[in-house]
Amino acid sequence: MINKEKIILIGAGLAGPLLANYMAQRGYVVTIIESRPDMRKVPISAGRSINLALSARGIQALKEIGLYNRIKPIATSMKGRMIHDLDGTTHMLPYGQTDEEIIFSVSRAQLNMELMNLAEESENVTILFNHKLISADFDHYKLFLQELDTNSHKELSFTRVIGCDGSASVLREAIINKSTVKYIKKPLGHGYKELTIPPSESGDFQIESNALHIWPRGNYMLIALPNKDYSFTCTLFFPIEGVVSFETVKTENDILHLFQSQFPDTMELMPTLIEDFQNNPTGELASVYCKPWHFQDKALLIGDAAHAIVPFFGQGMNASFQDCSILAGLIDMNKNDWKTIFDAFSATQVENGHAIADMAIENYIEMRDHVNDIEYKKKRTLELKLERMYPGQFIPRYSMVAFHQIPYSEVYERGEKQFKIINELLKLDPTGKSIDRELVKNMLPNSSLNS
Ligand SMILES: Cc1cc2nc3c(=O)[nH]c(=O)nc-3n(C[C@H](O)[C@H](O)[C@H](O)COP(=O)(O)OP(=O)(O)OC[C@H]3O[C@@H](n4cnc5c(N)ncnc54)[C@H](O)[C@@H]3O)c2cc1C
Repeated sequence: MINKEKIILIGAGLAGPLLANYMAQRGYVVTIIESRPDMRKVPISAGRSINLALSARGIQALKEIGLYNRIKPIATSMKGRMIHDLDGTTHMLPYGQTDEEIIFSVSRAQLNMELMNLAEESENVTILFNHKLISADFDHYKLFLQELDTNSHKELSFTRVIGCDGSASVLREAIINKSTVKYIKKPLGHGYKELTIPPSESGDFQIESNALHIWPRGNYMLIALPNKDYSFTCTLFFPIEGVVSFETVKTENDILHLFQSQFPDTMELMPTLIEDFQNNPTGELASVYCKPWHFQDKALLIGDAAHAIVPFFGQGMNASFQDCSILAGLIDMNKNDWKTIFDAFSATQVENGHAIADMAIENYIEMRDHVNDIEYKKKRTLELKLERMYPGQFIPRYSMVAFHQIPYSEVYERGEKQFKIINELLKLDPTGKSIDRELVKNMLPNSSLNS
């Protein structure tokens, strides 16, 4: 605990204060530069979604910094997906096979505030609010900031700077301008709009509280996650342009027509639908692929700055938290050898980031379209059966992502092999009832559980 190197982090969103905690606990002096005001003092939106799905990777990191006990009481468990059909019938698809295989809905703002509180409890962390990074000069170790209160400009010297400044990262831009980093941003073409299901008149949840609700409608979907105040935050994921899209659904009549025809059972649940739809912003969704995630031993990117992904696996924050945990492990192993730390971080994490970005896009199609088709249900039943028959060797892809720490790139590879096994089994028995053990034995990689 005698390490006094000063580290600058850009961004006090979800990843920045978490990383500050890891670093402060290792004796580093950390300054976080944050463009927004302090959300604990000024009522501001915490950005993007109101609540988030927290799962094993995020929980592990929160445990490591000693915050999980403060977060658990403010989280609501979600045992599975509650599917809402067009005719109003509902059915639950559990996420896993055991009581532990669940995920949690947590308020983004509360989580963000608790992360900042814990960071500031350490005398090693200072957060400079209302300070925006404008650019960086890596040759002269200088950061250029704008102080938003006074509109004045400042220079800040650094030895090490880490960009936790989200999907539109300015530090990433500075690294790209200075180096040969490969960078692509792939817009999804679909955006999102947040809506609300308030508590009932008697102050209770209006729909099942321990579930993530989905209204899958082919090319788009509505989802709802529970909040501690008995409300639900709903998100409509919808095309940005096209015949049925945010471009065409605007007036009260358009909105009523969409909801009456596609989500009729939600009409009674959402008294402020029209106002919410018309007043809440439409968010855009994109995936960011960047390689490597560092510049020499001077600068590193983590979280959405390195790998913004679409939210359909509920993993953006979880992946960002895992980044912090992995980075802390590398710091422990390599002390202040930042070149080795940053090289090793990019070497493993970039491919993991790309893998979860791809899986998240695939999961959108599964959630909005496939969850209700017979083939999907057959495959899901079969994968759960195979997991019971080959524990540790066959783990459904969703479970590997949400309930284990297996690196995402390994999840992707194992998942592909498992999908092939399922397809072959269904060729032999299209009902999915019988399992050819010889075929499974030959095709299943002989790996033991690595979680
Ligand atoms: C609709 C939606 C739903 C989601 N749901 C989930 C979910 O269920 N589960 C999950 O795991 N993930 C989810 N995510 C993803 C999750 O929100 C992100 O992965 C997570 O917020 C990333 O954390 P971060 O700290 O990297 O970035 P952010 O949380 O975006 O924080 C970046 C911070 O940097 C600050 N900043 C930006 N630019 C500058 C600058 N130039 N100077 C100073 N400060 C700056 C910002 O003000 C902000 O505070 C969702 C995302 C969306 C859009």
